[in-house]
Amino acid sequence: MSEQMLTPRIRPLPDLLISQIAAGEVVERPASVLKELVENSLDAGARQIDVQLSEGGVRMIRIVDDGGGIARDDLPLALARHATSKIASLEDLEHVGSYGFRGEALASIAAVARVTLTSRIAGATNGDHAWRIANDLALTPAALESGTTIEIADLYYNTPARRKFLKSDATEYAHCDEVLRRMALARPDVAFSLTHNDSLKHRLAAADLPRRARQLLGEEFFAQARTLEIEAGDLRLTGYAALPAYSRAGRDEQYFFVNGRFVRDKLLAHAARQAYADILHGSRHPAYVLFLELDPYGVDVNVHPAKTEVRFRESRGVHQFVFHALQRVLAAPPGQAATQVEEPRSSAYAQTPWTAPRQGTLRNFLQSGSEPATAAYLDMARGAFNGSPRPLPEAADEEMPLGQAVAQVHGIFILAQNAAGMVVVDMHAAHERILYEKLKNALEDKPAIQQLLIPAVFTASAVEMAGAEEHAEVLEQLGFELSSAGPQQLTVRSVPALLAQASVVDLVRALLADLKDFPASQVIETRRNELLATMACHGAVRAHRNLSLPEMNALLRAMEATERADQCNHGRPTWAQLSLADLDRLFLRGR
Ligand code: ADP
Ligand code: MG
Repeated sequence: MSEQMLTPRIRPLPDLLISQIAAGEVVERPASVLKELVENSLDAGARQIDVQLSEGGVRMIRIVDDGGGIARDDLPLALARHATSKIASLEDLEHVGSYGFRGEALASIAAVARVTLTSRIAGATNGDHAWRIANDLALTPAALESGTTIEIADLYYNTPARRKFLKSDATEYAHCDEVLRRMALARPDVAFSLTHNDSLKHRLAAADLPRRARQLLGEEFFAQARTLEIEAGDLRLTGYAALPAYSRAGRDEQYFFVNGRFVRDKLLAHAARQAYADILHGSRHPAYVLFLELDPYGVDVNVHPAKTEVRFRESRGVHQFVFHALQRVLAAPPGQAATQVEEPRSSAYAQTPWTAPRQGTLRNFLQSGSEPATAAYLDMARGAFNGSPRPLPEAADEEMPLGQAVAQVHGIFILAQNAAGMVVVDMHAAHERILYEKLKNALEDKPAIQQLLIPAVFTASAVEMAGAEEHAEVLEQLGFELSSAGPQQLTVRSVPALLAQASVVDLVRALLADLKDFPASQVIETRRNELLATMACHGAVRAHRNLSLPEMNALLRAMEATERADQCNHGRPTWAQLSLADLDRLFLRGR
């Protein structure tokens, strides 16, 4: 073995390789290229942005804008790494008002695709024509009225390993469409058009937000949407949130913008989910378009190269504010838009206490009891239930620890009597758990499949169509047979036998939403349980279904036979024991 192999020398990486590596972070797929380019056009003050794509954007992305343009001598810099016209100092970074500032997007894109950039600066006299530059950095004169036209062709032509990760044209196009929607919602004042393979997909005239949002989200959304305009301290939340009557099987209609920038932020998503928690079924997702504005000092947008993640200085305060604002709007009577949440005690809004999510369906059950409940009664009841399940009782009733069902309450709970006292079961949660374990076991062998007598046909979005094709194999392993019945129609021919009772279309939609964004090769290893949980949730008995006593007892017996039956898949308890002593205490007996 030679000495060189034992002690590798440290060498600087060639520039192109650096850019290709950086490209991995910025240029994930055509949609991420599109995002960077549209942001550049917006930063250049464009009023009209026209996007043409071919083959999902993989073959070509062309953007024509009427922005300020780039001077001839700056064209080579535009393609250079770490060259930007947007910030000059660290201080600038604290209050960037532009979308870009890293100066690496164009360089990264040019490292992995063929780029042609043509531009003419605003106010150029007639003698000053436009100039064009390509990857080789050679400048050539060109014809262009004004603004900038950039063309990106053959994405990843020189990095085949990356190219392999690209999905079908339909999927890549769907992601591009999504990016355009986000930008168009963020900037209703700018006109946009989108063409794919020569067919016009969007033509959006400059408008105000209500009009733009109506165009992009549709009347159905608007019929159920509440308007928000809420301020507290330096925080402001505006936009639209749909009532539960318009909910989705996926998170596809959740738009959050922070200071005009679309973000995918866990904290904000969590605050929203929590605001909907009590009014939306667990398997459904809310729809909203929300704009959070705050002092730029309070938020760091420099966390992620694509800048879709942000970091808040006062994250708890932001969470609180968003949660309360949404919760209030959703609870307000129709026509009464909430406009104000309490001003936090001091300007440090982070000091307001964190609100824990409301938990424990049992507690809700007790609080919504028909008796006029006194505080003392409720306290005792809470103490008695303790909110958490106890270990299954043993000796007393060895065969049937959960006892005999005696009644169903409010279509939600089963009451049963056992030797220790009384048992309350959350029927949906318990059934969900049982199904989940059964589905898991079934998958180990070969799941029994139920052919549908009448196949279910439904109208599917482009993303759903693409997902069904891409994940056909995984879906089949799970027991679903899907085929396309038209350009926008999917047919479901079979479902797992265990789920024969479920609402097929909702179930398949929810699965496709889970599968979105995931490489087909990794789904089964890493997301299997998540998919099974979705299936179980859809297959489980719905609230308000009346069960007969034998059905209730069957559920109790199945719980006893199921591993980990104490908790539903979301970690909530599925049942609670109220002992005779607890009952005595509740009624102050023996005191
Ligand atoms: P950043 O946007 O972070 O500055 P980019 O690599 O995206 O970095 O762009 C580099 C520079 O090229 C920008 O700072 C801007 O000056 C110029 N530029 C890019 N696209 C356009 C455009 N459509 N119109 C005008 N200038 C542009
Ligand atoms: Mg940029």
